Amino acid sequence: MAKSLYENYKNFPKTDCGYCGNTSCITMLRRFCSGELPLSECIYFRAGLYNVNEFSCSPPVPRGTQKPSISYIRPCPTDADRISVEVSLLPPEGSKYGYFDMITLDNIFNHAVPGLRISPSLGIARLESEWGDVMGFSEGRVLIRRASNESSAFWQLSRFVRSLWAAVS
Ligand code: SF4
Repeated sequence: MAKSLYENYKNFPKTDCGYCGNTSCITMLRRFCSGELPLSECIYFRAGLYNVNEFSCSPPVPRGTQKPSISYIRPCPTDADRISVEVSLLPPEGSKYGYFDMITLDNIFNHAVPGLRISPSLGIARLESEWGDVMGFSEGRVLIRRASNESSAFWQLSRFVRSLWAAVS
């Protein structure tokens, strides 16, 4: 049965040794999932330490099914004096797995950015601050809550995406 990227990654070698020519195990896995490379490129699979048959990928997020959009929600459901904004970002050209790579994000930033919490299994990152809370989903949807006004919401959106830039797929 096809598994999510995260489910496959959980059982991957995760040594990031680079012997397969990729910069990390997650890159190798993503290239396997997109049909670019066989798992036999990995020395651990070649050595028989991992079973190829235990790995299979769900189809990638098809490009073109998402449209960029912005919706305003007034008042914010969690604070009647503030607003919420929901934004749908378009994955970059060539992206095969949505917008934010939460596995890489977790590997790089976990516990390093104050207020940032990441769940690779759910594909969610949440950044809390006094200016409001921002929640991002792997496919590119971003929800800003408790923003004082529209420009503050967009400043937070910009800060969130820049903070997570290393993990934009
Ligand atoms: S050879 Fe295997 S363990 Fe090493 S980086 Fe590549 S996928 Fe990861």
